[in-house]
Amino acid sequence: MCGGFDRGRVLTCSIPDLDDYDARVHWLTAVILGVVLMQVATFATTVYMHRGLAHRALTVNPWVAVPLRAFLWMSTGMRPREWAAVHRRHHAALDTAEDPHSPLVLGVWRVQLTNAYLYQRAVRDREQIDRYARDITPDAWDRWFFDHDILGPLLGIALLCLVFGWETGLLAAAIHLFLYVAFNGMVNSFAHTVGRRPYENSGTNLRVLAVITMGEGLHNTHHALPTSARLSFSRGEVDLGWQGIRLLQRLKLAKVRHEDPSKLLERVG
Ligand SMILES: [Zn+2]
Ligand SMILES: [Zn+2]
Repeated sequence: MCGGFDRGRVLTCSIPDLDDYDARVHWLTAVILGVVLMQVATFATTVYMHRGLAHRALTVNPWVAVPLRAFLWMSTGMRPREWAAVHRRHHAALDTAEDPHSPLVLGVWRVQLTNAYLYQRAVRDREQIDRYARDITPDAWDRWFFDHDILGPLLGIALLCLVFGWETGLLAAAIHLFLYVAFNGMVNSFAHTVGRRPYENSGTNLRVLAVITMGEGLHNTHHALPTSARLSFSRGEVDLGWQGIRLLQRLKLAKVRHEDPSKLLERVG
């Protein structure tokens, strides 16, 4: 910006540093993009993989399920039936040596910091995967696309770089991955150690975590009612996953197993 004239002399001009400006735009775009990608991946995780596939709490119309599977494939590289098997094992063997990620057995920080490794270790145990995912068979989409787990993330990163430039694309992918692993790790670690326990199980309800994990932080309620598509039952509890499911229901794109899940609450007290 130039300040004009002062007694015939031109005041010093300060030209904005375009490189700095570009760098700020890249960072800001990458952070926003990374957070949005993490939120969409968390929505797909909780609605499709967790509540839908692992617990059969709802069925999602293929017009929604396939895009969610494609997004999970490109943003995480995980195979939903393997995720469902590891998670079902967690429910079945809760807080025993067989539980793939129990903070009571392994320690809260070990589960938080090595959550991705613990998941991969559980996936390598093919006998357990086959046992817990017996009812989930690969379909044509899996055979052609989603079972090629390295291809998905490579495609996702390539798309990001193509649309936003390689610096912003790579940065956004890294931010998404870090946040996704960290927040979903918190469900397995902190949501089994600190927080409210309205029902008798080792899971806990962490309201702040629930806000950023599409309701997954209401983990005590989830362990009490695993077949309920809805996790929020008290004032102040936010379950954006359930809000999304309700919207899909209204659009006739999803069907929940228990139309009135609050009735289930009476059974568990
Ligand atoms: Zn749990
Ligand atoms: Zn579960």
